[in-house]
Amino acid sequence: MSGILTYALHYEGAFNKNSLGAVSEGARLAKQLGTESAAVVVGGDDLTDELCATLGRYGADKVHRAKGPEGLGGPVVDVMAKLIQEQGYGYALFGGGLLGFEIGAGLAARRHAGVTMEVTAVRAEDGELVAERPILQDTLISESRYKGDLGVIIGRLNAFEMTENGDGDAAVENLAVEYSPWSERAKMVQRGEQRGADVNIEDADFLVAGGRGLGNADGFKLCDELADAFGGAVAATRAVVDAGWYPYAGQIGQTGKTVAPKLYLAAGISGAIQHKVGMQGSENIVAINKDANAPIFEFSDLGVVGDLNKILPKLTEAVKARRGG
Ligand SMILES: Cc1cc2nc3c(=O)[nH]c(=O)nc-3n(C[C@H](O)[C@H](O)[C@H](O)COP(=O)(O)OP(=O)(O)OC[C@H]3O[C@@H](n4cnc5c(N)ncnc54)[C@H](O)[C@@H]3O)c2cc1C
Repeated sequence: MSGILTYALHYEGAFNKNSLGAVSEGARLAKQLGTESAAVVVGGDDLTDELCATLGRYGADKVHRAKGPEGLGGPVVDVMAKLIQEQGYGYALFGGGLLGFEIGAGLAARRHAGVTMEVTAVRAEDGELVAERPILQDTLISESRYKGDLGVIIGRLNAFEMTENGDGDAAVENLAVEYSPWSERAKMVQRGEQRGADVNIEDADFLVAGGRGLGNADGFKLCDELADAFGGAVAATRAVVDAGWYPYAGQIGQTGKTVAPKLYLAAGISGAIQHKVGMQGSENIVAINKDANAPIFEFSDLGVVGDLNKILPKLTEAVKARRGG
């Protein structure tokens, strides 16, 4: 096996952070294996030579550029499958996110390759890659090695750190691809920002963070109302982000953002270590949880044991009354 191929998603003139993490990780591992790291980009005229070459700063030796619809999985599978067949890359690496999962799974099926998803770390050992993946509710780590010509490794969202570890610009090579008929059946109709994506939780003085205890995505209304009353912002745990209840931009923790507001209020959050590392620097920590033994109470300044559905609306009313609203 030789050569690592990564996919870089771009939007409106910039590569996405998660993709840059994958490109950086691919370059780091390729160096250890003594092989080439290359990136694949698929899109229109806005994928200029200059923009593509910037992937070299993150360690890509080469960028394969194909004209095609940006942001859809099928065409990228066609492009990567062709490159792997013709140029013999041994690994395909993705930064996670929905598109990474879709393309990686499609590629593994197309090339009959082994695939590992939700990977949190990769290392080079005895000339091959070994992928680590948490299993059994993240209590154990499983290790995957790959048989055959190709291994497909799909990271957890933001598991791979974006590092400017390259020497300069990458060489850009154009690739002509004939897309499969089924790859062209889906069209991008609209693209936009998710709710909350514009909120900068790192700058907020007051944060209401919601967890799985909110019950469902609608439960975030209670957090929104309290944050509005305070003039603060809403944040979330990874569990709810993974469940699609809240956008990733609001995630606090090891694989999210680190915050240090004046007041951090946790509603329905257990207080896992991976969450704690992102908020433990907050000046005041208040937690509402119906389980008196929830770990979050061990590092809260004020703990309220009770049902958030009853407590949050009352708190919002009290804050509004106090602030004259
Ligand atoms: C490599 C790795 C990276 C990770 N990165 C992150 C990260 O960046 N950020 C992060 O947050 N997590 C991260 N996690 C996940 C983390 O381990 C936990 O799974 C997650 O934080 C749990 O989220 P939660 O507290 O919302 O859910 P749960 O652990 O399910 O907790 C829900 C809580 O709500 C309470 N509750 C339920 N109903 C109510 C109610 N009506 N009123 C009051 N309380 C109620 C329950 O008692 C419980 O304590 C990571 C895990 C791994 C392995």
